[in-house]
Amino acid sequence: MSAINSVPFLDLVTAHHNLKDELCGAFRSAIETASFIGGPLVEEFERQFAAYCKTDYCVGVGSGTDALRFALIASGVCPGDTVLTVPNSFIATGEAISQAGAIPDFVDVDERTYNMDPLKLKEYLETSCYWNSALSRLVVRRSGSPLTAIVPVHLYGQPADMDPIADLAEQYNLILLEDACQAHGADYFSERDGCWKRAGSMGMAAAFSFYPGKNLGACGEAGAVTTNDPELARKIRMLRDHGQIRKYYHEVEGYNGRLDAIQASILLIKLKYLDDWTLRRRKAASRYGELLDSPQHEIMLPYQPDWAQAVYHLFVVCVRNREQLMKQLSLAGIGTGIHYPIPLHLQRAYNHLGYSNGDFPVSERLSDEVLSLPMGPELTAAQQERVAEEVLKSVELRPLMCAAAAAG
Ligand SMILES: *Cc1c(COP(=O)(O)O)cnc(C)c1O
Repeated sequence: MSAINSVPFLDLVTAHHNLKDELCGAFRSAIETASFIGGPLVEEFERQFAAYCKTDYCVGVGSGTDALRFALIASGVCPGDTVLTVPNSFIATGEAISQAGAIPDFVDVDERTYNMDPLKLKEYLETSCYWNSALSRLVVRRSGSPLTAIVPVHLYGQPADMDPIADLAEQYNLILLEDACQAHGADYFSERDGCWKRAGSMGMAAAFSFYPGKNLGACGEAGAVTTNDPELARKIRMLRDHGQIRKYYHEVEGYNGRLDAIQASILLIKLKYLDDWTLRRRKAASRYGELLDSPQHEIMLPYQPDWAQAVYHLFVVCVRNREQLMKQLSLAGIGTGIHYPIPLHLQRAYNHLGYSNGDFPVSERLSDEVLSLPMGPELTAAQQERVAEEVLKSVELRPLMCAAAAAG
């Protein structure tokens, strides 16, 4: 297969090539002024990204993981607390919880949206916990640890079903934080509030990552917390900068977790294009939908409920013969990814939590069946047609094999 026909999983080169002059200009002016950390460009990016997310505040930090960790600490999660998230996520969600001193615990995801299942959350809160009225907190039965926060993840760029999650958070006095690291610009229709709300504006705070491959990516590491709470924003500004309120006056012990000025100026440039990139991702997603929609094939396409406007960070299909399909696509020069091959509760890093196979069946099935197809603003219709053709060629085999097996 010639390289000309190959389709990369994610084409970061073209996007940066198109913006090369603008991006180099940002770097040049940083060199000329030698302003590398903090300063007006960081503040300007924070203003613009807060406006983009429809929040009052944005605090730029070093990564999405920093953003999650600082949001957890600043919102009042304490060492020894339990924080709930989903097993179907990147490990950073779990790491941030542990690094805030808390214990990660999980509720399974919904079969169709692949995000936190509000019914399973409700069941967990009602059956795995009891209410301690002295603490005004739920306590997890098996560990005796107070449950203080929930972190739904807007995975693959699709918002989690936030209304019922927010209702439960209110009912049980839980801090609600969004992992919006894959969901820049995604929208959710809230029945509660009767309006569309943006990812990053629905919890007490939200974490964003600007890792280069994300929908809004820096040319290095970067992240941000968004919030409407001025006190929370102030605490996070302190945490990212060694806990200082001004130079060498440290109110608490903090971290080195700042957003640097070069990344901020790169993000300011790219933010102007984000809506256009999102539009192109949505078009590509609906084109895949048309190309791959076929009752004869054993392929499950992403499901977007009426209340969601996803931003398709990833385009994830489910297939039973994933390894075979991946191999076939790779031979055809088509890049794919698996997000994620092992659910968090079965990762070796979380052995000590004591979970085993069968505890979160939906996440476990997904880890065997999900396949991320090439996706991004640069993906062309011709490339998508090639991908679809190769996918259908491979998944087509399955019903035939089943028929043959049945006949034999
Ligand atoms: C990327 C990502 C993170 C972590 O962001 P970094 O910037 O890489 O630290 C956290 N959660 C999810 C769901 C992510 O996709």
